[in-house]
Formats: sequence, C-alpha cells, structure tokens
Amino acid sequence: MATARKSFYQVTQDRYQQAAETMKLQPDVRVILSEPKNVIQVNFPVKMDAGGTRLFSGYRVQHNNVLGPYKGGIRYHPEVSLDEIKALAALMTWKCSLAGLPYGGAKGGVQIDPTKQSIDELQRITRRFTHALGTNIGVDYDIPAPDMGTNAQTMNWIMDTYMNSVGYATRNAQRGVVTGKSIASGGSEGREKATGQGVVFLIEEWARDRKVDLSKATYMLQGFGNVGMNTALLMGRLGARLVAVSDHKASIFNGDGLSVEALAKWVPSHGGTVQGFTPAKEISSAEFWSTAADLCVPAALENQIDETNAKTMNVKLIAEGANGPVTPEGCEILQSRGVEILPDVMTNSGGVIVSYFEWVQNKNSERWDLDEVDAKLKKRILRSYDMMKSAAERYKTDWRTACYIAALERIQAAYNERGIWP
Ligand code: NAD
Repeated sequence: MATARKSFYQVTQDRYQQAAETMKLQPDVRVILSEPKNVIQVNFPVKMDAGGTRLFSGYRVQHNNVLGPYKGGIRYHPEVSLDEIKALAALMTWKCSLAGLPYGGAKGGVQIDPTKQSIDELQRITRRFTHALGTNIGVDYDIPAPDMGTNAQTMNWIMDTYMNSVGYATRNAQRGVVTGKSIASGGSEGREKATGQGVVFLIEEWARDRKVDLSKATYMLQGFGNVGMNTALLMGRLGARLVAVSDHKASIFNGDGLSVEALAKWVPSHGGTVQGFTPAKEISSAEFWSTAADLCVPAALENQIDETNAKTMNVKLIAEGANGPVTPEGCEILQSRGVEILPDVMTNSGGVIVSYFEWVQNKNSERWDLDEVDAKLKKRILRSYDMMKSAAERYKTDWRTACYIAALERIQAAYNERGIWP
C-alpha cells in the first residue's frame, strides 16, 4: 500500500530534526525551535464588488525572534493553509540566521486567488487583514514583505493602513513596518529583483566551482513571477539560454531559446501566464520536467519535484528559487543521480537580505544606490555559500542539512549567551 505523502510542514520539521541530530543541537534549544512561538489566525469581513460581504481567514505565524524582530513574507494563494505558513515561518528563521541578519522568522497568508479579485477587492482585503493583525506586526516587532501573490503595491497598502492606525506624530517612523515597498513609498533600489539576483549570484559561484560556462548554458524555469522573471532577466545578461518555462496554466518550450524580455512583457498582459507565447510550443508537464538543460530554477510552489519527475529530470543543478520545491523523496533520487541542489534557505535569501537593507535605510532616512545594494547583497549571500560548504565539510553532510546547521549554530550561540528566562 502506498504511504501518504508528508505535508510540507512535516517535511520542514523532519529536515530541522535531521540537522539538529547531525550537529547534536542542545536539547533545550531543540525543543524551543520545534514549534512556532505564536500562531495568529484572524477572520475579517470584506465588501465584494458584486455586493455582499465575504469572510476571509488570514494567518501570521511567528516562529522565533531570538535574533531580532520576526521577518517574513505574506502569501496570497488559493492553497494557503496554516500548516504551509508554519513551515514557511520556520524556513524564515533558518534563512535569516544563515544570512547573518538581525531577524527571526515569520510568515503570513490569506487563502485567496489574487488573479480572481479586482484591484479594489485586493486593496480592501489587504487593508482589513492589516487592521485585523493590529499590533501583531510592527517596525521593531514583526515586519512582513511580499511573497507569492503579493507585491510592492500590497506592501504600500499595508504600510499606509498601519501608519494610519498609529499616533499622528510617530506615523513616519512606521515606514519600515513592511519591506518590499515601491521606491516612492520608501522601498529600496534592487528589492524588486533581489531574490532573483541572489539566485543568480549563487549560480555564478557554483558555475565557477564546477567550471560550467554560463554563457553557453541552458536552463529551465518553473514560475515566471517575481523570482522567476528576475532570475531569467539576469541569466539572460550572462548569456544563458532559457529553453522551457512552466506556470500555473501551461508549459512552453523553444530549444533555440525563449526571449525573456518578450516574455516579461507578455505575462503581465496575458493574465499572468506564459500560455500562448510565441515563438514556442506548448508541452505537457511531463515533457517540461524531462527537458534537457544544464540548470533548473523552480520558482513557484513547494513539493513540485517529487519521486516521479526527479527520475526524468535531465539537469546538473537545481537552484531552489521557491521555498521547498523538492520533496525529500525527490532529493534522494536527484542526489543518487548526481544532480546538485542549492537549497532554498540560502538560494532565495536575496529577498530578505535586501529587505533588511530597506529596513535599515528607512530607520536611518537613507537612500542607497543600486550598485551599493547589489555589492552588499553579493558579499552577504556568497558568505552564506562559504558557510554552507564549510558546514558540509565539517559534518560530512548534504548542502541543505549544512545550511540548517550553519543557521542553528548562530541561534544556539544566542540562546547560550542570553540563557533561557527566568
Ligand atoms: P509570484 O506570485 O510573483 O509568482 C508565482 C509564479 O508561480 C507565477 O508564475 C505562477 O504562475 C506560478 N505558479 C503558481 N501556482 C503554480 C502551480 N500550481 N504550478 C506551477 N506554477 C505555479 O511569486 P514569487 O514572489 O515569485 O514567489 C515564488 C516562490 O519564491 C515562492 O515559493 C516564494 O515563497 C519564493 N520566494 C519569494 C520571494 C520574493 O521576494 N518574492 C523571496 C523568497 C522566496
């Protein structure tokens, strides 16, 4: 009898426990980190365009804040669940720690399909969600950012709603309550492309190590949203050829290379999908996952590469732009086939790193230029790459476990120095 697939939350927990076991994490710290500190669910009413009122459920899970304020994105997607948000919140704790940021981990979400709501409805949903969260978020307490289905506009609405709910005189000091805002509302240069930029800095480093010439390389991409599109635009500058893309509606292929610039114009004006783009042919999902290419960047959802498509994949490297895109069974098969994986907690940390830069700029009323942001991002994310390789060497373990270990070492040190109160 086939065993049921583990939930993403269970997978994240297993990966944490495995790393804790490998590094012999202290039992008290291990217990603390095994559950989120706070789990918040709010139910809030919103007036819909067609008349009538709908009740929505929103979540904010605050996993840990020993290193600093809670930090993590807000997701709008039809499959959002409390379990998924709990998993993503824990991943944020490991991600912020590995990147050396003064943040803990959190995540939020609302179960909606943003492509099916009008812009006015999205604004009302976002403002009511923010109002319902109340003081559960705050510039020095818990700082949301964009994730799947949300963007700079969503963050601007959250910031504005939050600012309007605090005292008049301190309103402007609240700008850093969210990051990933548009530039005019206090966002940072380079934040929009930051996650993709981080993915590409790491791919370049891996290619240097493995002596792969990226100007002649091919790659495939799942998801053409913020992370996927920005990764593709930057890979294009290195000369790499995008041969296949897949999203929630379709998969397309062109062995001569898809024009990333043309796709970046096509997708927003065609309901957010690559479907129908030319010159390209539509292929099945099975064909997509069997595409021959040097690299694959999953940049959509979790649990996309499993025991079935891991067997047919024909790439040298998977750079996890998305959170949790490869299942443990998929990882095992890929590992046995010699496919390397740059793990999510490091690979997509460019977003939170530049979010941190945005928060620092807001606090100090500063504006950094793009070169400064990119240089600082590169330095920080490549340090994570070195830390991963060093932990992998020290513990003779895989890269994912090594990233978790490097993150847990920093958190353990903080608990040891502070002690557990009282
Ligand atoms: P987005 O909403 O901008 O884009 C999501 C993409 O995924 C779209 O192309 C959509 O068509 C596709 N998609 C949605 N459902 C799908 C399905 N069932 N099958 C295939 N494709 C599907 O989201 P994003 O911000 O680019 O986030 C993508 C991933 O990257 C998520 O896992 C997110 O947690 C992670 N991430 C994002 C950021 C960030 O800064 N935005 C930072 C770190 C990690």
